[in-house]
Amino acid sequence: MPNSEISSLPVDEKYFDDSSSNYRAVHDSSLKDSEQFWANIAKELSWSREWDEVLEWKPPFAKWFTGGKINASFNCLDRHMDSEQKDKDAYIWEGENGDKRTITYAQLYEEVNHFASALLNLGVKKGDKIAFYMPMVPEFPVAILAATRIGATFTVVFSGFSAVALADRINDSQAKLVITSDGGFRRGKILKLKEIVDDALTKTSTVTNVIVLKRAGIEINMEENRDIWWDDAIKDTDDFVEPEQLESDHPLYILYTSGTTGKPKGVLHGTGGYLTYVYATTKWVFDIKKDDVYWCPADIGWVTGHSYFIFGPLLHGATSIMYEGAPDYPNPERLWEMIDRYNVTIFYFTPTGIRALMKHGNELPQKHDLSSLRLLGTVGEPINPAAWRWYYDVIGNKKCPIVDTWWQTETGGIMLSASPNLGLVSLKPGSATFPLPGIEADIVDEKGNSVGLGEKGFIVIKRPWPGMFMTLYNDSERYKQVYWEKFPGCYYPGDYAIRDHDGYFWLLGRADEVLNVAGHRLGTIEIEDAMVEHPAVAEAAVAGKPDEIKGESIVVFAILKKGYEPSEELRTDLFNHVRKVLGPVATPEEIHFVNMVPKTRSGKIMRRVVKAVASGTDIGDITTLEDGASVDEIKKTIDEFRQSVKS
Ligand code: ATP
Ligand code: MG
Repeated sequence: MPNSEISSLPVDEKYFDDSSSNYRAVHDSSLKDSEQFWANIAKELSWSREWDEVLEWKPPFAKWFTGGKINASFNCLDRHMDSEQKDKDAYIWEGENGDKRTITYAQLYEEVNHFASALLNLGVKKGDKIAFYMPMVPEFPVAILAATRIGATFTVVFSGFSAVALADRINDSQAKLVITSDGGFRRGKILKLKEIVDDALTKTSTVTNVIVLKRAGIEINMEENRDIWWDDAIKDTDDFVEPEQLESDHPLYILYTSGTTGKPKGVLHGTGGYLTYVYATTKWVFDIKKDDVYWCPADIGWVTGHSYFIFGPLLHGATSIMYEGAPDYPNPERLWEMIDRYNVTIFYFTPTGIRALMKHGNELPQKHDLSSLRLLGTVGEPINPAAWRWYYDVIGNKKCPIVDTWWQTETGGIMLSASPNLGLVSLKPGSATFPLPGIEADIVDEKGNSVGLGEKGFIVIKRPWPGMFMTLYNDSERYKQVYWEKFPGCYYPGDYAIRDHDGYFWLLGRADEVLNVAGHRLGTIEIEDAMVEHPAVAEAAVAGKPDEIKGESIVVFAILKKGYEPSEELRTDLFNHVRKVLGPVATPEEIHFVNMVPKTRSGKIMRRVVKAVASGTDIGDITTLEDGASVDEIKKTIDEFRQSVKS
């Protein structure tokens, strides 16, 4: 493929000097004997029995640290009880309504023990499944850690999902207990969580008890013999519960993917390998130090919340901010105000969140003192260079490195990212840079052959790593078929990517969303990046529609920034802009102005839905869609446009 095809990547823009980075040396040596490499890291955790074998690899199933015994809550809590961490804040919590609470490691330890005792009293045993449907309050991590203490496997369902989605996940995981609250606060309204649980439980048969935390103080129905208030459950419980010594591959949790590309998949993670990986990556990427105040606003309902809000920071004894509500409530400066209030040093957010706040301009963040920040991160989608620069300039005041972390629910932890703890490599806006130590990544063509630098292809991982999922719950066939069959021996994440001439990795979107325009393969993100480079555009979603001549033509939905109005001139200007940035082949066929684009509840653009609407095909599973109105809007916009073209 000609090099000119990558001209859209701003490869010349580099931030930070990498001359003293140890990254390359560490990465090289990690691959020489990766089992020894991982074993050395695992030794930094506390095991009650050491493993017999580091890796038992029966492709495509891996077991890490077999024979070893470990407990997650012990590693997150008990370990810190003999150190100065004990009296440090584990969580500094703020409710959406301004309520405040701090909880030290010692207090967290105490609460977890009592709640674990409550679970035992209810007859919950090792291997039982617990479903969570909770707002972001400190009791949420308490209950999760308590579950891990007794060896119960948990599954978190994001509290914005419907009763049907909750029932599906309860049925799939066969949960016996549900932990919820009466309600939670979101954008000033009360979400009636218990009511939704009641509704879901009419469609399930495995649940014998529901524990209900009082948060919103609303009237709810309590079913006798089934429902129990949190406060009653912890009455007269023991203040110490012996942590269950669990086999390294004991199932820690089941988590359903975001549903961006189709029906959500139930990803099953083990314990010892997962904890080792999350521990290592938290250190490399976030470089957490004793005095840091770390904030990852991700909801626990997503894998980011599992790995880098709960386990990673707690394993390191770090202090985290926890916030209950919406990032733009009561106004879009809430996050900046909180960074200022708590002197946050490390902030890990999403491109979608950054673009949404960027839309409101620079004044809001500039009203606040953000100088405590020293490191910024992003996760969830490729970050457009324009959004990267705004994050870097305006939020980080041109002094904070940005770690763009590429990973998936399936991978358990970050796979590609700069790693400040090993010495920063130079950063390029929009590139996740390089694979972390122990990770062997490559880009291959349809046949599985490595492609050269500057050529697009499929990203693959060529050897197992400790954070990898064990299987898809109840569906090992789908596990094999989705991730391992396309390129035998390699893990196939399903993303499209390219390496530039310095070897940097750039993620170009989902492999099944790549456009084929007149013989040129274009990642959706390449066109979206170009759109967002234009000063008027806050966000764009791109999809292909079938075209008799070109194969596919490009349809763009654009959301404008504050202060810009849709007009024919602007549309023409945008056509010209994309053509100028990417070349004539990438000129969109249609550009539509909209107020929102279809997104998952985790905030990712659902391009398959955009594509289905643009090509008039079935829109498929939309159980994780955030707002149905977005689909109606793009449908209406397209219909009106095509009607006007016809007439
Ligand atoms: P589903 O698998 O149900 O379609 P999903 O893939 O969105 O949902 P997640 O596991 O939450 O579910 O997201 C992983 C995906 O998110 C990756 O495969 C990738 O496409 C995208 N992604 C995450 N982080 C980054 C990043 N830093 N750069 C580019 N893409 C990213
Ligand atoms: Mg996925």
